[in-house]
Amino acid sequence: MDCPRQKPFLLAWLCKFACCLFLLNPINTVHSGETPMTTPHLRLAIIGSGPAGYTAAIYAARANLKPTIFTGLQPGGQLTITTDVENYPGFATAVQGPWLMEQFKAQSENVGAILLAEHIDKVDFSKRPFTLTTDMGKTYTADSVIISTGAQARWLGLESETKFQGYGVSGCATCDGFFYKNQEIAVIGGGNTAVEEALYLTNFASKVTLIHRRDSLRAEKVMQERLLNHPKIEVLWDHVLDEITGDENPKSVTGLKAKNVKTGAIKELKVSGVFIAIGHDPATKLFKGQINLDAEGYIICPPGTTNTNIEGVFAAGDVQDKLYRQAVTAAGQGCMAALDAERYLANLDAASK
Ligand code: NDP
Repeated sequence: MDCPRQKPFLLAWLCKFACCLFLLNPINTVHSGETPMTTPHLRLAIIGSGPAGYTAAIYAARANLKPTIFTGLQPGGQLTITTDVENYPGFATAVQGPWLMEQFKAQSENVGAILLAEHIDKVDFSKRPFTLTTDMGKTYTADSVIISTGAQARWLGLESETKFQGYGVSGCATCDGFFYKNQEIAVIGGGNTAVEEALYLTNFASKVTLIHRRDSLRAEKVMQERLLNHPKIEVLWDHVLDEITGDENPKSVTGLKAKNVKTGAIKELKVSGVFIAIGHDPATKLFKGQINLDAEGYIICPPGTTNTNIEGVFAAGDVQDKLYRQAVTAAGQGCMAALDAERYLANLDAASK
């Protein structure tokens, strides 16, 4: 705000006061509509800052939608707890997960997205404009919303599991399997993910031991047959992971201890990687009762779209995808959601004329 020079004192003071008000006012984040000072109104709100959220922000900003992205409690999502990323296209050599997310963030800011380090913990999609409320009680209204809150891999909660996460303990075979060429590894779990990951890992590993807490698998029969007939795979039934062992320098996994749930006996295995595949939890608690979720809590979108059952609310990334769960597929869906939101807002503008 430009204050002209050589003004009488009172006018200059008033001008300064107006400047201060402008800078302090939360309405600075407002991009459309004339709404009350206390409730900033957003044209497009994006909830969640993983590859899906940032990509949606990049596309929406370049479409002049002035998106506001609520980055949440773990800005950057799951990639920020990953080390080497070798499968994100565009990089000839491995990049670090946290660095990659910094690039997403900087790119979205450079093209004009507004980033707010706030956590949305309540939404109301029952009336328009939609309402979003932060955990600090601050309220925003929005014409359209993209949900990209992701999903969290479930972990067992062992101290040694946390210690070696990113150093031999992984939650994603597609991401990290390549690093275990000709090595022995273990997969924990008995569902479709565990079986699929064990099979995938045989492309690299010399041996894969699937450790399951029961004596039968939850995975589909056809997958079970493939697993049980695979020459590189052995199943350790009725065992739970007790401890992951390893070296400090360099930090790496060298083995594990598994406990027989029936006898209590401990079995030690020499492995250099442990893949935890006991399921994922989509971050959709705050949308329960607001939009349609499936039995496992994922947002339901018709195949090939980012549409939810509420017009103007879109979902992208792992929060609606339990099959692919990759940074690049999440980013692709973020792009789709931004294009869908752009179309929706254009129709909204046309209808209001
Ligand atoms: P699931 O919930 O189906 O399976 C989780 C597995 O982890 C179960 O075997 C469970 O054991 C085990 N488990 C859970 N908690 C623990 C624990 N604390 N300690 C030890 N083991 C534990 O999750 P998935 O990720 O496998 O699948 C999720 C959904 O996605 C399913 O609907 C699945 O069908 C679907 N999916 C589909 C795919 C496809 O179609 N290609 C691929 C991957 C997933 P227990 O059996 O004893 O409960």
